[in-house]
Amino acid sequence: MEAEQVFPMKGGVGNSSYAKNSSLQKMVISKVRATVEEAALEVYCNIFPDCMRIADLGCSSGPNSLAPTSYILDAIISQCSNQMIMKKKKPLTFQVFLNDLPGNDFNTVFQSLSTFYERLQNNGKGDKFDHPLCFVMAMPGSFYGRLFPNNFIHFFHSSYSLQWLSKVPKGLVSETGEAHNKDNIYVTKASPNVVVKAYFSQFQEDFTYFLRCRSEEIIIGGSMVLTILGSITSNDHKHVLEVVGRALNDMVSEGIIEEKCLASFNMPVYSPNAKELRKVVEEEGSFELHKLEKFKVTWDAGFNEEKGKINNSINVDDDDNIDKYNRGKYVSDYMRAILEPIMMKQFGEKIMDDLFERFTHTIIESMANENCHNINLVIYLIKNQG
Ligand code: SAH
Repeated sequence: MEAEQVFPMKGGVGNSSYAKNSSLQKMVISKVRATVEEAALEVYCNIFPDCMRIADLGCSSGPNSLAPTSYILDAIISQCSNQMIMKKKKPLTFQVFLNDLPGNDFNTVFQSLSTFYERLQNNGKGDKFDHPLCFVMAMPGSFYGRLFPNNFIHFFHSSYSLQWLSKVPKGLVSETGEAHNKDNIYVTKASPNVVVKAYFSQFQEDFTYFLRCRSEEIIIGGSMVLTILGSITSNDHKHVLEVVGRALNDMVSEGIIEEKCLASFNMPVYSPNAKELRKVVEEEGSFELHKLEKFKVTWDAGFNEEKGKINNSINVDDDDNIDKYNRGKYVSDYMRAILEPIMMKQFGEKIMDDLFERFTHTIIESMANENCHNINLVIYLIKNQG
């Protein structure tokens, strides 16, 4: 499965869309805001470009697509406009490229642009020629390949996208055709070493190529802030995909899914640990690792923001259980917005409601018994000179 066939998130603005089910990712973006602002301001104030070019890689579709850009623009406008615009007598100008796979629902993003531009205008000072100028455009394509001309972008940002690999790793099937990871769809504690190695090796290849491409495209003095859904060690941290695997296994044992259909399926995703990430950056060599930060968010961290849309008419008996169910459903809903397109291709549309209802219950069980959180790795990289 090549990147172009990695399915983008569920488009549109319906109840099951990514746009309506991405408050967890939004919370992660807001937690990294200070680092993003610091890095972008540093680039702006050092280079002071006539037009600052920014790219968000894996922007998806919905309120998160423009959130990092808003943070960056607000920071630069409030910090620099007073002193510099006045002297230069020209408006701050930005060109923003939103990148995702070609199948991404860019139209929904374009439809939100008028609100984005309006907000920006209200941010400006003085008459209308002093307003900051911003031109937003889409750059469809895989970030595991070239997206921009040489020496072009000042600042790259990406959140929760680089754990997606360009393809399912090779080497997950033995020479005799036996699946090495047959009861799982991702690396888990039960996965043999050959699986762990195959996944890391694919990540290493992809991320090295990613860095090489960006190093051509970035201007000297430019930087990147990348947030990746990571892990503590390669295989001992419970990944939410392990719980999806459990729900799928139950469906195999009940004869709803064919065993070979699950055995042959593996997700093109890898959550590296901090050591692995550092190793790839250092070996590739184009960027200095200026900062590496780690933080956790629980799987249901964005739940309170979403409470408005929660359904209280479910068939459970007391408030505590309603809350547990709703939290499980919240996690299941945002995972469905991410996974449904790829799961549907493998297992068929008919079983999707059943799968995600089971997933809700396996999530509730996991959250009751274990400490369930995402590990987030944030790296701030500066292009090496020469
Ligand atoms: N940044 C957003 C979206 C994260 S979802 C947020 O934080 O909410 C991950 C996004 O990465 C998806 O939209 C997916 O289509 C995109 N993606 C995955 N692989 C990609 C690739 N190779 N090139 C470009 N985008 C990719």
